[in-house]
Amino acid sequence: MAAENLLIKTLACRRQARIFFVNNADLLNTICRRPAVRSRRVRHAFALTVSAASLLSGTLKDHQRLSLKVKASRPGCAWYADVDALGNVRGHLGEGWLNAAPEDLDRLSVPQLIGDRGFIQMVKDVGMNRNVTGITDMPRRNIVDDLTHYFNQSEQTPTHFAIHIDYDDDGGVRTGVGVLAQLLPGAPEGLMDRIREAARRLPHISLSNAEGGAFRKLPFLLFDDIDVLDEVRVQAYCGCSKAMMLPMLHALGTGELAAACERNEPVEILCRICGQSYRFMPEEIRRLLSRDAPSPGSVPPSP
Ligand SMILES: [Zn+2]
Repeated sequence: MAAENLLIKTLACRRQARIFFVNNADLLNTICRRPAVRSRRVRHAFALTVSAASLLSGTLKDHQRLSLKVKASRPGCAWYADVDALGNVRGHLGEGWLNAAPEDLDRLSVPQLIGDRGFIQMVKDVGMNRNVTGITDMPRRNIVDDLTHYFNQSEQTPTHFAIHIDYDDDGGVRTGVGVLAQLLPGAPEGLMDRIREAARRLPHISLSNAEGGAFRKLPFLLFDDIDVLDEVRVQAYCGCSKAMMLPMLHALGTGELAAACERNEPVEILCRICGQSYRFMPEEIRRLLSRDAPSPGSVPPSP
């Protein structure tokens, strides 16, 4: 049974901390299990990044957006996820991961994939054309603890992330849950230790229970003092369209497009964010080419 992708927002520990809980197994299967992502290890790190983005959607309001980039040491290798306040989540991979041999990548652990020059970058679009960018190193090289480090460093908000993902035999995500806790001003210092201790139990709670409606019990299984403020659906949503693929179609060049028309073959363009394929038929391409062709007698632009 497909569980609902859900974010639960709470206040906990005498309302001295805000804690978000997410169940996003379904969403991870949609975003991270694309055929192009052949390495299971790379896919797992991708799922951690996307889960963090799902949790972070809880921190946004109105029209705010947040982009998360986890950059590994090797060139072209990064995981990207972005999210808005409505719980729309999307993600994609750097070309470097897609081009590398999956069997080579699967021999490495996540910390080895990240290497010693990894970094986390977050760009928060706070509206009115204003962006807030933060960047930190990755001392723990496991993404989840590095995100905790990110917030403690660059936002100076005592924060803790916990994410638990496990897989069935076919590599599908069976469990994908996470916790994001932040202390509110005035909270006692030792409180984060207690929260960290409680969140450590996340992988040990039988999460067959946490699916569907039973997921709503998870906050109460981890913490004994919880006020649920809100529940928000999170979903894989890109927002791409065929019209948005036109620049990529044009980038193939007039020669290649004309050749496809000659062969009477459609041209397929993939959205690099969500992997959705858009098909342009020869007659559509001919129309586009004739629209772009200079009209007779026009002067070509000087170089
Ligand atoms: Zn897309």
